[in-house]
Amino acid sequence: MSTPVQAENGQSEPVRCQLCQRTSVLAWHCLQTDVLDRAECRVTAGEGIWVCEICEEAMHRWMAQHPGPGSARAAEQEMIARLSRFIAGQPRPYRRREH
Ligand SMILES: [Zn+2]
Repeated sequence: MSTPVQAENGQSEPVRCQLCQRTSVLAWHCLQTDVLDRAECRVTAGEGIWVCEICEEAMHRWMAQHPGPGSARAAEQEMIARLSRFIAGQPRPYRRREH
């Protein structure tokens, strides 16, 4: 149970979030098994991805709202869709406040 996941799947933890590419402290997100509990998901072996805290939080919130078989993988797809929409979306105008 406490065996590091990276030792089991032979992959070491990357530097960047595999979803948003942020350089951050990463957490394991298991895709193969739907584990709603974040702490438990972090130590679940099998196929998965390394993600930052923001992406992990968003995926588990989505999983809680969309429970069912395959929710861990569906949450990953949802995040990719969100990031794609964000990148393809309209740029927000930034304006320096005048004094
Ligand atoms: Zn991320």
